[in-house]
Amino acid sequence: MKNKTVLCLMAHPDDPEIWSGGTLALLAESGWQVVTATMTPGQAGSTTLNAKEISTVRRKEAADAAAVIGAAYHCLESEDVFITYDKSTLLRVITLFREVQPSMVITASPQDYMLDHEITSTLAQTACMAASIPNIEIPGLPALTGVPHLYYADAAYGRDRFGNEITGDIMVDITTSIDTKTKMTACHRSQREWLRTISGVDEFVLMMRSFSERNGKLIDRPYAEGYRQHLGFSYPQDDLLAKELGPYVHYPKLSRP
Ligand SMILES: [Zn+2]
Repeated sequence: MKNKTVLCLMAHPDDPEIWSGGTLALLAESGWQVVTATMTPGQAGSTTLNAKEISTVRRKEAADAAAVIGAAYHCLESEDVFITYDKSTLLRVITLFREVQPSMVITASPQDYMLDHEITSTLAQTACMAASIPNIEIPGLPALTGVPHLYYADAAYGRDRFGNEITGDIMVDITTSIDTKTKMTACHRSQREWLRTISGVDEFVLMMRSFSERNGKLIDRPYAEGYRQHLGFSYPQDDLLAKELGPYVHYPKLSRP
């Protein structure tokens, strides 16, 4: 077995916790080293603080959220709305992969309502393969010994850009970790307060919990997170999540053995 390190790379601070916090908590509980990373520090996420100020706040919130499960947090310093698939961005992502040496990667859905999420997903897909190619050299950082298992988390709000519903074919029952997930999500205080001011209710946490409930209904459990595994050529084909999380993993569509 390769090292038990999972890297969750998403676009914005709070994405790892909202879409994968429950699964990351379960993996941490079963002895996995968890690393979260976001492409941006979320510089667009405020109407009262400037980009530099809110970035500082949100980097700290993301690190606090990761720390709830003993995870480390990295920011790749792209900008909200301007996440780009180009050589320099990809090299930063590959560098992170080489530093972290993950055997499992969780990223955003390749279909989503927002391009920041889709481009992050594509960057992670390429980095999984590129980080394991020795001729793509990054001084001082050895290539991965194999392509990591790659999982795509749910699309934000479970829909693609046309409004079509997307559901995972691998469901992780997060009923025992929903409280930890809530605690992680609540670390993003700036976003929680912002939404609470706009909507008058605790929309941030309520949205996260109700989306986890929607997934839970698909497997007759209170809360779940959905995933799809990248099964393209040269990527691992076995379901490492199921191997590691055993009874927590369900296949609602029966498309897997
Ligand atoms: Zn996002």
